[in-house]
Amino acid sequence: MLETSNPDLDAITAELDQRHVFHSWSAQAALAPFVIAGGRGSRVWNHEGTSYLDFSSQLVNVNIGHQHPAVISAIQEQASLLATVAPATANLARGEAAKRIADRAPEGFNRVFFTNGGADANENAIRMARQFTGRDKVLSTYRSYHGNTGSAVVATGDWRRIPNEYATGHVHFFGPYAYRSDFWSSTPEQEAERALRHLERVILSEGPSSIAAILLETIPGTAGVLLPPPGYLAGVRELATRHGILLILDEVMCGFGRTGRWFAFDGYDVVPDLITFAKGVNSGYVPVGGVVISDPIADFFNDRVFPGGLTYSGHPLAMASIVAALDTMASEGIVENAAAVGREHIGPGLAALAEKHDIIGEVRGEGVFWAVELVADRATREPVSAAVMGRIKKELVARGLLPFLAENRIHVVPPCVVTPDEVAEAMAIYDEVLSLDLLG
Ligand code: PLP
Repeated sequence: MLETSNPDLDAITAELDQRHVFHSWSAQAALAPFVIAGGRGSRVWNHEGTSYLDFSSQLVNVNIGHQHPAVISAIQEQASLLATVAPATANLARGEAAKRIADRAPEGFNRVFFTNGGADANENAIRMARQFTGRDKVLSTYRSYHGNTGSAVVATGDWRRIPNEYATGHVHFFGPYAYRSDFWSSTPEQEAERALRHLERVILSEGPSSIAAILLETIPGTAGVLLPPPGYLAGVRELATRHGILLILDEVMCGFGRTGRWFAFDGYDVVPDLITFAKGVNSGYVPVGGVVISDPIADFFNDRVFPGGLTYSGHPLAMASIVAALDTMASEGIVENAAAVGREHIGPGLAALAEKHDIIGEVRGEGVFWAVELVADRATREPVSAAVMGRIKKELVARGLLPFLAENRIHVVPPCVVTPDEVAEAMAIYDEVLSLDLLG
């Protein structure tokens, strides 16, 4: 099963990487690159053939698992037919991909704007919202991640007529986080109510008629899988509607199966105005993202130019991979698998670990989207240090598990295809590592 062509390739890969690749989100000298040569399903391996359970899904994007043959062959077929095409042309794969996505969205969402990833999906959704409302400000939460672009368009000398792009306009507010409440709440219901009251104060203080959109991750992911408390998202929807503000839900990380639903917001009885997506839509096999647009906003642009677009928007290889990924996820019940494995194996497995290990402060999540908060003291909820997290990472990797760690948390985020046996294997590894004398 493993591609063990040449063990020397691990050393060669690491050296090339260290000498020539400038990495994101890292001090270059501090890097110890983790070599991945191949993968299948929930596992990856290096050239030597050492295999790891991928409980990170890379950057929480490989929902369909590594190297699904249906997606690989769709990309190959499309490459032999037509490998690239300009965005303003029509292409069968693009139409099919847009239709697949619109079919999964709520009624009244019929058109899809494609981007190269999640950040530019959010940039374009914001631009649409600003143009549609004629307002500048965008409200988003302090604990959120929406992407890492932004300067490029401000530096651009062409297209000065892009609407409001130079407005500073970004206002942050506190979203709910019951475990570390900013509102001194003692129940999730109270947290929702107080967070909504705070948001309303922010809206009124900023001036509702200056606010184009509220941009929220349906479930803030990188910030800690912060499941919205009951009533919160419906309350945000109500506030937005009341003040003529658009609601953009960022489903880049939580969409397309991760929660055990096609869209995370399907579980919260809320419908946004714009939906942004990337990652799980094709599991990252080819870079892609986009915006699903509700009909009134799409129609607004029937007789107005939307000044957005990229050379590779709607790239045929990405489009073919979306069609294959979404069809395969449906025919193989992969979203249902994520829901069942989460409910029956990951949730109970993590709860059992929390019973046993005092270092676990809280476990939260659903589907294949979980966070485990590690604390030095359960009573004070003091987060464990970066040094402790560094040790945990090393010990997990040494035992064959590739983790996703953020701040003081282990995010348990395997592909949606993960099996009960793989979850059991991972739980045994987490258990072994958490049993070490980590705080001493
Ligand atoms: N939005 C969310 C919720 C994300 O988690 C991410 C990436 O992690 C992004 C946007 C940015 O996506 P990309 O890295 O594809 O630009």
